Amino acid sequence: MDDLDKLLADLSAKVHGQGSGDPLAPCIDSTPENAVTCNFCNEFIMSDDYIIAGSNTFHKEHFFCSQCGELFPEEATFYQHEGRAYCEADFIAMFSEQCYGCNQPLLDNILDALGHKWHTRCFTCHYKGCTTNLSQQGFLTHNDEPFCATHYPAVASTLCMGCDKPIEGRCFTVNGRKFHIDHFICSFCKQRIELPNSPNQATFRWQSDKPFCMKCHIKLYG
Ligand SMILES: [Zn+2]
Ligand SMILES: [Zn+2]
Ligand SMILES: [Zn+2]
Ligand SMILES: [Zn+2]
Ligand SMILES: [Zn+2]
Ligand SMILES: [Zn+2]
Repeated sequence: MDDLDKLLADLSAKVHGQGSGDPLAPCIDSTPENAVTCNFCNEFIMSDDYIIAGSNTFHKEHFFCSQCGELFPEEATFYQHEGRAYCEADFIAMFSEQCYGCNQPLLDNILDALGHKWHTRCFTCHYKGCTTNLSQQGFLTHNDEPFCATHYPAVASTLCMGCDKPIEGRCFTVNGRKFHIDHFICSFCKQRIELPNSPNQATFRWQSDKPFCMKCHIKLYG
């Protein structure tokens, strides 16, 4: 114990001895032991008047948003990304993911469904006017959109049976199924079927809930 004390005393004496008077002496760090550095400029903070934010410290004049340059109020919550500080608005705008339903930033209550991220509150039936939330229940999808069990049939019935896309405008309806005019095709040969000009004209046969051209129908069903 005595030896160690002596050694330490010698060492410090040595440093101080060399430092004073000798111009070639190694530079002695005069920074106080508990000096802190500014998270923005990495310089030591020499003043007592500085910002402590979480585990970071800043010069007062360096506590600002890296994006908009706005100085933070002292008690501000700020966000960090790759060592830079951002105000909430800029952080959200720059780095947070957006809800597929409302295009607003996703900060919490995130739901992953249909290859997209949603607020749980935004994952609702996409049928016009329906607000049923589907985050806690089963749902049916069409074109990557979720629908409740009540509305899925309505959505599906407005789809062209030929291409599975919604029908707007002119369509051909047969046995409750709808087709784009150009998508009325034979379920076997995949050729387009001419639409009958009158109810008496037979251009197709309906079998097993599918349309067949006359040729194929005769071949398949006689
Ligand atoms: Zn600084
Ligand atoms: Zn900002
Ligand atoms: Zn949303
Ligand atoms: Zn619905
Ligand atoms: Zn179609
Ligand atoms: Zn055919």
